[in-house]
Amino acid sequence: MPRREPTVRRPELMVACPRCGSARGAACYGKTGRPMKGVHPERAELYREQYPA
Ligand SMILES: [Zn+2]
Repeated sequence: MPRREPTVRRPELMVACPRCGSARGAACYGKTGRPMKGVHPERAELYREQYPA
């Protein structure tokens, strides 16, 4: 049985978020300090730059 990592499957989490400062693997945080479901657009952009398809 494979280990289940508590990581979200969003590939954007491979990079740190330039907007909210979330580290790699961590979810983005909104203004309220709560984890966001998605990621900041800046982060998605950065991911696409670093890991071009
Ligand atoms: Zn963010």
